Amino acid sequence: MSLDFDAVIVGAGFGGLYMLQRLRGAGFKARVFEAGKGVGGTWYWNRYPGARCDVESVQYSYQFSPELQQEWEWTERYATQPELLRYANHVADRFDLRRDIVFETRVTEAAFDEAASAWQVATDKGEKVMTRFLITAMGCLSSPNTPKIPGLVDFKGPTYHTGNWPHEGVDFTGKTVGVIGTGSSAIQSIPIIARQATHLTVFQRTANYTVPAHNRPLDPAYLHEVKAHYPEMRKRAKTMISGIDFKVNIASAIETPEAERRRQYQERWDYGGLGFMASFSDLMLNDRSNRTAADFVRGKIREVVKDPETAERLAPKNIIGCKRLCVDTGYWETFNRPNVTLVDVSDQPIERITANGLRVRGRDYIFDCLVLATGFDAMTGALLNVDVRGRGGQSLRDKWRDGPKTYLGLTMTGFPNLFTITGPGSPSVLTNMLPSIEQHVEWIGDCLEYLRSRGATVIEASPAAEEAWGGEVGEAAGATLRSTCNSWYVGANIPGKPRVFMPYIGGFPAYIERCEAVVKAGYAGFALT
Ligand code: FAD
Ligand code: NAP
Repeated sequence: MSLDFDAVIVGAGFGGLYMLQRLRGAGFKARVFEAGKGVGGTWYWNRYPGARCDVESVQYSYQFSPELQQEWEWTERYATQPELLRYANHVADRFDLRRDIVFETRVTEAAFDEAASAWQVATDKGEKVMTRFLITAMGCLSSPNTPKIPGLVDFKGPTYHTGNWPHEGVDFTGKTVGVIGTGSSAIQSIPIIARQATHLTVFQRTANYTVPAHNRPLDPAYLHEVKAHYPEMRKRAKTMISGIDFKVNIASAIETPEAERRRQYQERWDYGGLGFMASFSDLMLNDRSNRTAADFVRGKIREVVKDPETAERLAPKNIIGCKRLCVDTGYWETFNRPNVTLVDVSDQPIERITANGLRVRGRDYIFDCLVLATGFDAMTGALLNVDVRGRGGQSLRDKWRDGPKTYLGLTMTGFPNLFTITGPGSPSVLTNMLPSIEQHVEWIGDCLEYLRSRGATVIEASPAAEEAWGGEVGEAAGATLRSTCNSWYVGANIPGKPRVFMPYIGGFPAYIERCEAVVKAGYAGFALT
């Protein structure tokens, strides 16, 4: 069978868009399949009120094109979903990407044809194509999780999932609303829904930590300054574990005198954003240090929330930063509003959804609209929705039965010529995703060029390399407090999902170095044929 494409890319979010641009630039024939009607991925689907990035816009953006970087004008410190979507569309237009993207088409099956050394890819539109390489850019947080709460179909009013929000928007004015969840999506949307709704009831299973965003319009002088020094900022960011350029204090929290410790926390609290976790270097390594940061935030909640009982329910008990830290605008203050009620469902799961609301501990809560801010089947969900079959017809679902196994989060043994952008086993969700995506895209692009230059048609990770990388990922996870709680990082939000810490937590610089070393050693750990 002849090849239709050198590469098929699945997904047209930031990963798929840049992958297409990179491969085109190298003269490869590539095609993107995208389930949505437009580009943007996360920012195409997550249109809930208040959706915005929590990494500052000037950093949560591409750097591969200096011209793009100079011409785009971010208007806010943390860009809103509409602005991020405009940016994705601008990128697609600027680089004329749409002509190679097929929209409203979901890849459903992909099978490696060993005789042809190529992937046969099938879509829900009945199309079948043969491609040498298959590159998934399907997103770490793109498969929405709808919890199996009994009675969900009985609810008579509209139900909205934050990860698949109606394009026309939703106006909650004059409505009573129930929100399930208190993760980042809930924390961003709750303050806005509360301002619209006549009454809002929030169902909280695990109280969550959030720090203020202190969002603001970006002043042109500041933007000018950033643009004048963009390369230096990007370079500094690559030396940071998180891939974000912010000030890190290398001191230990527990060894710092209390007054100075408080000063550090307060300074970062006033500045706003994820840099709060860089107040001290051992917050994720030492639980006594972590407790000092957690106590500081719990103190803030008690200061803001007027009703002491509500404040206690909102105050998280676990490790700060163990679940992804949230960044908010007016979240705690929202619980001082007379039209907002917090219902704790930590000790008793929601019994059932009813026609007019839901039931907890035998008590009925009534509302017109239900919002599921219940997150995603993270990191593996989107990939495993596709029936992927490698050598000998082995299915990826079988291979990953006990948790994902990859080499560098980029490739898998038994699945030659398949690459995953920000796959499990890569730093991905623990970093600023844009530089992480770009690093993967460039590594894959370089690899395909190398194979072409050598006349090689197949690349596959060796079992030993995959095994060793899995060991490194696990070892790195074991050294931090991050793997100790029930987060989506370990798959704990999805019943039955194997408990494995999925991203690589060794840091962005160590990871880049490792990927570069593999290349320098002639693609060490891979068999090329
Ligand atoms: P996505 O943007 O998820 O795109 C994947 C695309 O693949 C989707 O369009 C999907 O439709 C498509 N797709 C999936 N399966 C198939 C299939 N079988 N067939 C065809 N198409 C398919 N990260 C940060 O670093 N900073 C932030 O501030 C930040 N904020 C976030 C806010 C929200 C609400 C969410 C959900 C995530 C956020 N993230 C953030 C993570 C975010 O997902 C990444 O930053 C980035 O947008 C991921 O880009 P991507 O292209 O890898 O995946
Ligand atoms: P999430 O963090 O997984 O939060 C889901 C929430 O739903 C949790 O509070 C969870 O409780 C609750 N939940 C799930 N099932 C439930 C059930 N059956 N009963 C009661 N509660 C239930 O999902 P998310 O808020 O969509 O965020 C996912 C990730 O996307 C974030 O961590 C972040 O990486 C990214 N994101 C970023 C931003 C941003 O600020 N830029 C915004 C949104 C999302 P438990 O905690 O008890 O499981």
